[in-house]
Amino acid sequence: MRRWLHVCRTEHEKCNSDLDRLRQFTLPKRLLLVEVSEQAPDTITLIDSNSLKQSIRYATLSHAWGNVRRCRLLKNNLKTYERGIVTADLPLTFREAIEVCQTLGVAYLWIDSLCIIQDSDADWTAEAPRMADIYSNAFLTIAATASVDDEGGLFRSPNPQEAMPLLVTAHRGSKHQTSYHLHYEDDFQENVDAAPLNRRAWVLQERYLAARTVHFAENQIYWQCPSALMSASDNTNTLVNYRDIYNFNSIESSTENLTLCVLENWTTIVEAYSQCKLTRPSDKLVAMSGLARRAHEMLRCAPGDYLGGLWRQELPENLLWSAVDGVKADPYRAPSWCWTSLDGQIHCSDHPSGRTSMVEVLNASVHPVGDPFSAVDSASLLLRGRLCNVILPKQLGAVAFTKHSPASAVVKNVIGQTGQAQVVVDGKAKLLPAGTFTTLFDHSRPLDSNADADPVICFLPIVDDDNADATDDNEKDSAILAGLMLEPTGQKRGQFHRVGQLTFDTRTACNILRIAFGGQDIPEGLYQDLDGDDWYTIEIV
Ligand SMILES: [Zn+2]
Repeated sequence: MRRWLHVCRTEHEKCNSDLDRLRQFTLPKRLLLVEVSEQAPDTITLIDSNSLKQSIRYATLSHAWGNVRRCRLLKNNLKTYERGIVTADLPLTFREAIEVCQTLGVAYLWIDSLCIIQDSDADWTAEAPRMADIYSNAFLTIAATASVDDEGGLFRSPNPQEAMPLLVTAHRGSKHQTSYHLHYEDDFQENVDAAPLNRRAWVLQERYLAARTVHFAENQIYWQCPSALMSASDNTNTLVNYRDIYNFNSIESSTENLTLCVLENWTTIVEAYSQCKLTRPSDKLVAMSGLARRAHEMLRCAPGDYLGGLWRQELPENLLWSAVDGVKADPYRAPSWCWTSLDGQIHCSDHPSGRTSMVEVLNASVHPVGDPFSAVDSASLLLRGRLCNVILPKQLGAVAFTKHSPASAVVKNVIGQTGQAQVVVDGKAKLLPAGTFTTLFDHSRPLDSNADADPVICFLPIVDDDNADATDDNEKDSAILAGLMLEPTGQKRGQFHRVGQLTFDTRTACNILRIAFGGQDIPEGLYQDLDGDDWYTIEIV
């Protein structure tokens, strides 16, 4: 570890170039003084950081509390902790983190449960939104990657031979001989990405924003900084491909196409974050607010461009996210067009922006409860686009529509390609055979009382991707019309909830749909405005 730190401090220009940002940063309210003291070698002290120089270095601990609740800072032990905490009383992970600091010569350590008063709402409200800054400005983050709770400790005793690369010598003819080190490619993914700590939602921003992290994994220790990813068994930086994906700090502000780069990283973050666990589902937005704030800084965009998990710059294409096993948040957490309204795994849109867009975003806004990157209490998306009613096949019933009781039915998430869908144009039904469309419902939901009828949804196309002009014959045949499945809220004229995504992916189906736009008499209650070219103004909430 000492050697890694030395290499990072002396050879990595990128890792040491952010001093200006650090100078403007205010320290966390409290820190633990952990350097060895001759007078009291077995104790550490809680310090009010007002008494410290702003330029001091501190480490942070990224850890899963588990059920370990002893040794927390409370109102009634604040004074005691300020006089000294006996290290032997601390859980193993804390004790070993202190040892790591002492080994690396870092005098101060920040641990959330010992530095924020756990039974004070005022202290929590003041410090929690700063959490991302506290981690990103730390000199080093110590990650208890393999431990499910604070008694798990940092260090493991793996078989070093299992982690070591295999040396292979290849002979070509009698004179030429080359040696190769064979590494297990998924090593980091299995031992860090999939580790207990990194399945927790709050930890994601600690990880993405940290300047330097030492991951104490099950099989070995890894060093990660914006310039390198190294392991105890491999100092050659061959795991380097990971670093750009997993660290916002590795994106330089001078990067060409900075916006694109940040938004691509955001996609990776969203897909990873959606698979992480939250103890309190209501924390969905706040637990990634630090990442949103950082992305906002890098995008240099206007306040209000962050829309509850989406970015204005990504609209309208990124409305085409899809959910796997989605569960709708209750109570309200975000509008139905934001993926943050759901729990469960999310896939971001794979329709790059710039394809023929079928909608115009007239207004998109969210109303935050307080912090602009945290909880939302209302939102609106006003769009102008094409609209048609699609009759989904009842045959989907076997897969998508499951009757739980005679009184109610539930639509389950499904990739449905069973049966024929229909659109009625000028009074005539046009059939869309199975295999020409895909329905992806966002979440299970009750159907209307008349569940035996063919379900009708409003289809709002977002992207029309037709390759008729392509020179390649294979591409020439492909056409995609992808959009949202909407359901009227019944509360306001032309107001809908998003219920899923619908994609037509053959030229025949797309052509039928194009005829349907404008060929249907859409009831007046389903739109706010209609202009001469059959473009409807609707609102999604
Ligand atoms: Zn470095």
